[in-house]
Amino acid sequence: MAKLSNLEEKYCCGCGLCNNFLEGMIDEKGYFRPCKELDSQEFDKSVCYCNSMVKSTNKGLWGEIKEAYFGYSTDENIRKKASSGGILTALACYLLRKKEIDCVIQVKVNKNNPLTTETVWNTNENEVINCCGSRYTASASLIDILKKIEFSKKYAVIGKPCDIRVLREYINLHKEYENIIYLFTFFCAGTPSKQANSKLMERMNIDENELKHFTYRGNGWPGKTTGITNKGEVSTIEYEESWGKVLGRDIQNICRFCWEGVGEAADISCGDGWYLKDNKPSFEESDGRNIILARTEKGNNLLKKLFNEGEIQLEKLDSLDCLKYMQPGQYMRKSSMFASILAMKLMLKKVPNYNMLSLLKYSKNISIKTNFKIFFGTLKRIIKGRIK
Ligand SMILES: Cc1cc2nc3c(=O)[nH]c(=O)nc-3n(C[C@H](O)[C@H](O)[C@H](O)COP(=O)(O)OP(=O)(O)OC[C@H]3O[C@@H](n4cnc5c(N)ncnc54)[C@H](O)[C@@H]3O)c2cc1C
Ligand code: SF4
Ligand code: SF4
Repeated sequence: MAKLSNLEEKYCCGCGLCNNFLEGMIDEKGYFRPCKELDSQEFDKSVCYCNSMVKSTNKGLWGEIKEAYFGYSTDENIRKKASSGGILTALACYLLRKKEIDCVIQVKVNKNNPLTTETVWNTNENEVINCCGSRYTASASLIDILKKIEFSKKYAVIGKPCDIRVLREYINLHKEYENIIYLFTFFCAGTPSKQANSKLMERMNIDENELKHFTYRGNGWPGKTTGITNKGEVSTIEYEESWGKVLGRDIQNICRFCWEGVGEAADISCGDGWYLKDNKPSFEESDGRNIILARTEKGNNLLKKLFNEGEIQLEKLDSLDCLKYMQPGQYMRKSSMFASILAMKLMLKKVPNYNMLSLLKYSKNISIKTNFKIFFGTLKRIIKGRIK
């Protein structure tokens, strides 16, 4: 692979959209990357995540929201199997059953390697239910999407927030793809690398080559991280340990500078509606619950329809104040973005094209001391070569 130096390559989110125009490959860390420098004649790189997410920094800390809810699927099987409350799965199943769409494009565990994913085009509910759960590993939801779309059909796409932003921007520029009628996403703190997944296997005493099934969470909420080998040996650790101690420590470059981890370009975005204990998220086992942000009227109407038909339970939130405590990582990443980007700029590092003034106002959410800590911490990591 030719060494690329442009911004889009450094901060590629691995969505796979450019693969519809250019060849791509999986890099050594497991992420999809284009094989050559993006040429705007072949592909309009303005839609790439590092170029498009910056538009949303002036839309408030949590982005535009029509209505916010707590909720879960009323199907006990989906709620239990799903990552949180199963809202994303319930939405996709409902749309297929009611024939409002023909196909859901989403990500599933790869049949050849449980630590990787593949993008699938599902046309029935069973297939959708088999995609339940969070996969804390690379995915390229938009791979080949433009080549395979049939204009006589209607689609919904579920992908990472970055994938959904890229697709939203692309559809805005190419109205012929408006037959992708729903865009859904989940809150996302980052995509762990292949190496992070290997470290997790070591910690769980699993021989990667012997791994048959792997779930990062689910079968409860949050549920345990569970691996089963070909010999039937089962190894589990707490979700908090697998994400907090291993996976979350090695994520894509762009994830550290991501503005839209709470899914701002989707019709509906779902996260963990953690219960709070002393204003901190509690990971004690419980029945699954999503926090649900309806980003568009269309998304909000769909949620109300499922609620009225008894498919999902919804409880409206009057205020978003709890998000700060429920999603401390998302809150901190956004609030500290000014300090980290400033340090990067001072060290002449490439950064997504942020408007510093719009970031400045969010830096006031955290103390001056914390801002300085982030600023000097970033400088230190650059000097030590831990940030390239
Ligand atoms: C990488 C990653 C980071 C996350 N970070 C956060 C966070 O910071 N805060 C938080 O609250 N929650 C986080 N989550 C969890 C997720 O946001 C919630 O579980 C969300 O509420 C979805 O719950 P659900 O029960 O509706 O999903 P389900 O009904 O179980 O559906 C999950 C959907 O996500 C899709 N999916 C799973 N993994 C991937 C992937 N790697 N790429 C693309 N699509 C995928 C599946 O295909 C399925 O459609 C993260 C999940 C992932 C995969
Ligand atoms: S962000 Fe998406 S479209 Fe842009 S280079 Fe990366 S994979 Fe391709
Ligand atoms: S943190 Fe942001 S850039 Fe990283 S995978 Fe999630 S949505 Fe994409």
